[in-house]
Amino acid sequence: MLIVTEETCKEVVGSSDAFSAVEDVFAAMAKGDAYNFPVIREAIGHADALYGFKAGFDRAGLVLGVKSGGYWPGNMEKGLGNHQSTVFLFDPDTGQLHALVGGNYLTALRTAAASSISIAHLARPDAKVLGMVGAGHQAGFQLRAAAQQRDFEKVVAWNFHTEMLPRLAEVAGEIGLPFEAVEREQLGAEADVIISITSAHEPLMMKDWVKPGTHLASMGTDTKGKQELDPQLVAQATVFTDEIAQSISIGETQHAIAAGLIGEGDITPIGDVINGKHPGRRSDDEITLFDGTGVGLQDLAVASAAAKLAEEQGKAQVITL
Ligand code: NAD
Repeated sequence: MLIVTEETCKEVVGSSDAFSAVEDVFAAMAKGDAYNFPVIREAIGHADALYGFKAGFDRAGLVLGVKSGGYWPGNMEKGLGNHQSTVFLFDPDTGQLHALVGGNYLTALRTAAASSISIAHLARPDAKVLGMVGAGHQAGFQLRAAAQQRDFEKVVAWNFHTEMLPRLAEVAGEIGLPFEAVEREQLGAEADVIISITSAHEPLMMKDWVKPGTHLASMGTDTKGKQELDPQLVAQATVFTDEIAQSISIGETQHAIAAGLIGEGDITPIGDVINGKHPGRRSDDEITLFDGTGVGLQDLAVASAAAKLAEEQGKAQVITL
């Protein structure tokens, strides 16, 4: 079996590998060829940690496995990231362990891949201004991946903690994009694509601030109670998601659903757009929204790509159990 460390993942997997792997698995999910198993998440009563499992099987890509890990709030003091995860991949023909893959870098990569896939398929081709709501760990990955999908000329950004914005400005600078910190109303008025990636529990972007034709990717809301968008904005948008069951229970649509503004039938899996079953954006004035909730199959897809690339490049450690 293979061991692929965090460092090796960084060496062998890039955003275009993650884009392809996640796009393929979204397509397989929409066809019913891949499915996520019920998620387990437990407060373990030790170190204030939340620990859990996200697992699934992709019959099309023959990827079976589980991402295990969670959130340890005291890790920062130990010089470690608060989010820790590892992916276990199994041979779907025999059940034998195939690979152990570090999951921390890959989590950021697969989350950024999801929003960039939504931009590729749903944003207006002439989008010029990228709006970033959020400036935490994930935001830089989101910005880099989004920038590959359209000819953006500028980044406008807002963050609740303003002291975090300079780091995001550095990322924009590294890829040659002018960066401006703005208030949220201005962000909505200027941006053609808006990515939100925060831990907010209340609406940050309101319906009246967002202009026609905008594409939104709401990536931060992945738990019951979290929220980034005005439910009226969600109701006005044409809504796409990675997995409908997660979108309505822990994703951004939970609030519009609870308020009776939209129903489950108003939400389309993005895989239907990838597969050509849904046309995606229908007009230049339409507001599109991708509710990226984060599914285990995304993790397995990028971990499988990492294992394959590491093995091909002789960078995986091989051990016999
Ligand atoms: P982080 O801790 O590095 O950054 C948190 C971000 O949220 C910062 O921008 C911070 O300023 C902002 N924030 C915190 N409290 C806020 C508040 N009350 N109002 C508005 N903004 C607030 O976290 P991260 O790793 O960048 O993750 C950001 C979010 O994305 C988290 O909610 C995380 O759970 C979520 N996430 C989602 C996926 C997915 O697949 N959808 C994957 C990974 C992370």
